[in-house]
Amino acid sequence: METEELNRWGPDLARWAADYLATLRERPVRAQTEPGDIARQIADEPPAEPHAFEDVFRDFQDIVMPGMTHWQHPRFFAYFTANSSPPALLAEWLTATLAAQCMLWQTSPAATELETRMMDWLRQMIGLPTDFEGVIQDTASTATLAALLHARERVLGFRGNGEGLSGLPPCRVYCSDQVHSSIDKACWVAGIGQANLVKLPTEGDRGGLCITELEAAIVRDREAGLLPAAIVAVVGGTSIGACDDVAAICEVAKRQDVYVHVDAAWAGSAMICPEFRHLMAGSEQADSFVFNPHKWLLTNFDCSAHFVRDPESFVRTLAIRPTYLKTQGHDRITNYSEWSIPLGRRFRALKLWFVLRSYGVNALQETIRSHVAWAAELAEKLGEEPDFEITSPPVLSLFSFRYLPDGADDPDTLNATLLDRINDDGRIYLTQTTHDGKYVIRFHVGQTYTTREDVMFAFDVMTSLARG
Ligand code: PLP
Repeated sequence: METEELNRWGPDLARWAADYLATLRERPVRAQTEPGDIARQIADEPPAEPHAFEDVFRDFQDIVMPGMTHWQHPRFFAYFTANSSPPALLAEWLTATLAAQCMLWQTSPAATELETRMMDWLRQMIGLPTDFEGVIQDTASTATLAALLHARERVLGFRGNGEGLSGLPPCRVYCSDQVHSSIDKACWVAGIGQANLVKLPTEGDRGGLCITELEAAIVRDREAGLLPAAIVAVVGGTSIGACDDVAAICEVAKRQDVYVHVDAAWAGSAMICPEFRHLMAGSEQADSFVFNPHKWLLTNFDCSAHFVRDPESFVRTLAIRPTYLKTQGHDRITNYSEWSIPLGRRFRALKLWFVLRSYGVNALQETIRSHVAWAAELAEKLGEEPDFEITSPPVLSLFSFRYLPDGADDPDTLNATLLDRINDDGRIYLTQTTHDGKYVIRFHVGQTYTTREDVMFAFDVMTSLARG
């Protein structure tokens, strides 16, 4: 394919994209295919000769599209959303056109300097103090891994990377049982191990980590010769939106000299609204904080905003400087590959710049406030139905419920069956979790194009399919 063909296909694909987004409500939200349906239609072997782009694009529409779950569907209420918006999408097109590898300042100074600015804009937007500096990671999972590697090196006196971990006392990480599985995985990958991830019970209405148990566990471990390295605090847990008391955690951390990483992957975007910031209070004392604009700030995946309070020490953990990566003649530059695990990095700051300028903070705040208000309205309406139970109240725009008609003798199976019926129906998409030992259905509002009518429409779908 020649470069000039972009003139032919670019407008066609732009029209296709606009039409797709405008007609999403007519499609089932979750793909309605069976395993293997798509693979069966794709050639076993790579083509030896070129295919015309007409054919490639036709197959995209005929083969790929039926197997897509539509994350930008306005009635996507599952998991947490993965946002997109027209300015972010257009920025991604430009990013793909430039296809720059932005690992070092000199491999694209604009990408580095825009990233520094965008992270400072985001820092101001969520109210973190100026002593935090940020980097855009691909995912919150990567940010957490980087933070735990930093915590590990800090407690080991920066010996782990050089010597390996054998022969050194085990590092311990503390969290509640409400954290995302990416915390477990980060412990596996960082050589800390699942056995050294201490999951403690929660307390209080917000499902926060029990503070007395936390401090007792740290003291006990230290007496046993183990190395308390980090506490992972969660603001807006994946299951039901649990929030730790970050301020209390940071006080314990200070007394015990332990690193604090705050995982606000989903809820962090809502912190652009000052009225929700009480949920993250104390985070200004933490060492590391992550949230995902790609979840709830209208920015396409991948864009995970990771802030650290001691960049020098953080970079000491992750920087590796062979001659071929050195920049001649510039001392005071930032090389963001020294802030991340992979060397290679996309130009991710561009889409943030486009989004923040195209909407402005006020409109972004309004979007989040609307989502929160609609979730509260739906939870209230559903809770008034005699055969529905709200199993966890709204935290921002997430709540959980279950169908519980009189005489239901196996509510877990009843709700699992209901969830399948809802998702097979296709007009809305929901997912499940376990809460207090019960199978419950989650409802999350966070999609860019969702309206109040879409949320209320979900009420009709859920109640009629439950009772039908
Ligand atoms: N932390 C929390 C609280 C999450 O809900 C999620 C994903 O939903 C993650 C971390 C992982 O996010 P990512 O996919 O960016 O790694």
